[in-house]
Amino acid sequence: MSDLSSLALTHVAKLHAYTPGLQPTEAGWVKLNTNECPYPPSPRVAEALHEAIGPDAAALRLYPNPASTPVRAAVARLHGLTEADVCIGNGSDDILNLLIRAYCGGEAATGFTLPSYSLYPVLIGIQDGRMEAIEFDRSMRLPIDKIAASAARIFFLTSPNAPTGVGFGNAQIAQVLASFDGLLVVDEAYAPFAEESAIALLAAHPRLVVVRTLSKAFALAGIRVGYALAHPSVIEVLDRVRDSYNVNRLSQVAAVAALGDPSYYDGIIARVKATRTAAVADFAERRGWFTYPSQANFIFTEPKNARGESGAAVARSAYDFLCARQVLVRLFPSHALTASFLRISVGTDAEMRVLTDTLDAWLVRTAHNLPQ
Ligand SMILES: *Cc1c(COP(=O)(O)O)cnc(C)c1O
Repeated sequence: MSDLSSLALTHVAKLHAYTPGLQPTEAGWVKLNTNECPYPPSPRVAEALHEAIGPDAAALRLYPNPASTPVRAAVARLHGLTEADVCIGNGSDDILNLLIRAYCGGEAATGFTLPSYSLYPVLIGIQDGRMEAIEFDRSMRLPIDKIAASAARIFFLTSPNAPTGVGFGNAQIAQVLASFDGLLVVDEAYAPFAEESAIALLAAHPRLVVVRTLSKAFALAGIRVGYALAHPSVIEVLDRVRDSYNVNRLSQVAAVAALGDPSYYDGIIARVKATRTAAVADFAERRGWFTYPSQANFIFTEPKNARGESGAAVARSAYDFLCARQVLVRLFPSHALTASFLRISVGTDAEMRVLTDTLDAWLVRTAHNLPQ
């Protein structure tokens, strides 16, 4: 066989992998590019992991609970639901993948908005599914009529949206549910930082799926746990298509410990929101930069140089200047609505000070047209 790549399925041969944000391995970076939590997880997580591993890690001989039953119970308790309404994934990316595996393909299209989480088209491509992308305009208001008119069997809505941070209220989501016939997935990766959650709509709307993750608000991106909340008949479909041991033993232990300590997380979520408010005010009042109202743990802001100009080249210049000084943020150059912005994860107050000091230095450079 001379050409190994020709053995792959035709649609797979054309795929491009999802591009995750950079994860630098050396120390010294102010890392504000992948919306991780700047604070550690609940201290109960370390205690539970130490206990689970024990002195000789003997428990790791054994397979984990195949259905992640203790995690389902903890999630159900947290949201006032039952275990039959919950499926646990190896990160919420696993849950999104299960939804695509079960509901995408053939003639029916899979819908999502642009911009939103760029993993959706990658997963649909792996399935060789048809896509229907619904474009926002600069207002970032939810295009309810366009979603309703779409022929999608399943539609992915990120709320609060990424990378803008704009949240959609339950009145709007209920309007979508009233007019769209398919399964509506609301990806709530950032909902703990938002004003409302679509979880309140689940009881009345069997075609709604809410997806959550422990990666952002629970400070556990490294353990890969996420979950779906939905009608038991949807959960039962997801259980049919998932790997039988999709969540490892230590991740289950860490997740149960974290989910059992909501008051700790109320504290760090409040800190992130306070830092977010201060950062948005700084960009608006001191710099005159436009920032979308954020209900997430990041802000999406349109930098202006010292001459008051904005645009893709200005955003790139600010990004490169920050990156050269080990401050990592995220740039989304491939879409006209996002190319002139920076997405900045909310860090600690000290990290945000490094960010704003570095942006001040960038402004001085742009004022004098100096090389970076
Ligand atoms: C971070 C993120 C995810 C992925 O979460 P994991 O649980 O880490 O896989 C899913 N959706 C959106 C919108 C995200 O921003």
